[in-house]
Amino acid sequence: MANHTDDALHGVQSRVIKKKKKRPNLDIIPEFMRDDGMMHRYWVKRFSLFSRFDEGVRLDRESWFSVTPEKIAVQTARRLACDIIVDAFCGCGGNAIQFAMTCSRVIAIDIDADKLEMAKHNATIYGVAHKIEFIHADFLQFASSTNLRPDVVFLSPPWGGPNYKKRSNFNIETSLLPVGASELMQHARRLTDNIGFFLPRNSLSPQVIALAGVGQQCEVEYNYLDTRLVAITSYYGYLIQQDSTAADSDS
Ligand code: ADP
Repeated sequence: MANHTDDALHGVQSRVIKKKKKRPNLDIIPEFMRDDGMMHRYWVKRFSLFSRFDEGVRLDRESWFSVTPEKIAVQTARRLACDIIVDAFCGCGGNAIQFAMTCSRVIAIDIDADKLEMAKHNATIYGVAHKIEFIHADFLQFASSTNLRPDVVFLSPPWGGPNYKKRSNFNIETSLLPVGASELMQHARRLTDNIGFFLPRNSLSPQVIALAGVGQQCEVEYNYLDTRLVAITSYYGYLIQQDSTAADSDS
């Protein structure tokens, strides 16, 4: 009897209210994503990856997981503004395009020729392809043999796909491809000491700091999209923003 009265008073329904799932428009979604529920999650984020997506941006399956969201790429490009920058793992061009907006010249390297073609196409959409030199190469070999001395090298090597999110800690010495972080830094330092390194948000901090070298400093930036921590970027060499107040109080 009491329950009946409560129901009448509050009108509360006991069944679970199902949230309506956003269904992507299957007419415009690329064929390889159409039947894959997981890919639909990436498709709805397309404008956060490339604001000009609708103008014909091209991405292959792998790149949907790994391309840097545009707002973060813009921020990194502001921090790394310089004359010549090397984007060592260019992929489909999310970072290289933004570097072309803040740097005089971008050397964009990737081991996958198809990805480089897509990067070139995407850079054309953004009107910056003429500022980017696309080089089909293994970055490790390139770094060992080139005479180029850029101002900055940007590293965003493969994290091994989206599974990195499932671990509490990401070991940057054993889980990055094609080599561990220290070895990759050694290669990059053949070109310059000024290095930006884009890493998983759960990277082990002591390892990230140790990359600076004994007695040296680094700066770690947390990359948020709204309230979501997406990744970290660590800066080495002259890229560290010196805090003049701290320097003054030390002296
Ligand atoms: P993630 O694991 O984060 O999804 P990807 O597998 O997409 O990353 O890798 C990032 C990019 O790095 C890809 O475009 C890939 O072709 C490129 N790449 C991988 N190894 C090398 C290498 N040795 N030199 C240059 N580019 C490489």
